[in-house]
Amino acid sequence: MRFGYSDTCLEHDPGSRHPESPDRLRAIREGLKRKHGVEYVEADPATIEQLAAVHDREYLEEIRSFCADGGGNWDPDTIAVEETWDAALRSAGLACWAAEAALEGEDGRETPFSLGRPPGHHAVTDDAMGFCFANNVAVAAQHALEDLRARRVAIVDWDVHHGNGTQDIFYDRGDVFVASIHESGLYPGTGDVDEAGEGDGEGTTVNVPMPAGADDADYLRTVEGVLAPALESFDPDLLLVSAGFDAHRHDPISRIRLSTDAYAVMTDRLRTIANDTDAALAFVLEGGYGLELLAESVAIVHEVFDGQRPIVPDGDVSDDVDETLSAVADVHGIDY
Ligand code: ZN
Repeated sequence: MRFGYSDTCLEHDPGSRHPESPDRLRAIREGLKRKHGVEYVEADPATIEQLAAVHDREYLEEIRSFCADGGGNWDPDTIAVEETWDAALRSAGLACWAAEAALEGEDGRETPFSLGRPPGHHAVTDDAMGFCFANNVAVAAQHALEDLRARRVAIVDWDVHHGNGTQDIFYDRGDVFVASIHESGLYPGTGDVDEAGEGDGEGTTVNVPMPAGADDADYLRTVEGVLAPALESFDPDLLLVSAGFDAHRHDPISRIRLSTDAYAVMTDRLRTIANDTDAALAFVLEGGYGLELLAESVAIVHEVFDGQRPIVPDGDVSDDVDETLSAVADVHGIDY
């Protein structure tokens, strides 16, 4: 894969006890060191105009000056330092690069994956939250629609937390499809099955809240049984994966039980869906807080594009998840 990366993203440092640390990117790079076919690309920062296409200008000015004054606790979890603003612009810029590269035809071994931080998917239109300041994947999706050739963009968010910010930004939009698979009841508490979009966006938001303990077979069934038909009927030009790795069974902050191999299987299936719908495909880093599993999981996504066959989980979907998926299918008119 081609990885978007910039040292600027290391300079956002919320402190040694904060899980969203610069060591995350260092661990990923260490894990990719001996892998075949890894390439790094540095991208320009996003412009304020690009951020303002999905965020309120007043909020952007507030956060810019908050950082310029040295930063501090924006909320109890979301901590900025002086360098955070530049890191946020760069992180969004890397996501835009990934969208551009994918739409320019980079696929297969050249599939783009932006390794930016701070992450983005909790940042709503007018606020930072959940370690996120600018919604990187949303900035990239909007950039693809406004400045590139995409007419419809789909975002699949497999981070263990609900992608509430991305949902918020595109809730009434018919040209952006947002699907989130997340642990039910976890931060920020949103993402119920019946949150499905409104107005022009009715039906273009899909939420799959997973019970604690859900595993590889449950996630695979979700992708194949619900996301595949929904994405096929939406027919995107670009598919962006909000790729957090905190649903891993060894992640310290969730109770979902995915193995590292699950990320390979989901990657493989989403690649097939992208091929079938003739959509460009790019990955954007979100969360993932166990350094070792984060490094392993990003590496296994890379290896899928380097030709490795994923190991498909055996075992059946659990009754709880089957019921949730039936409810999702009902809301969205999917034949499940
Ligand atoms: Zn997360």
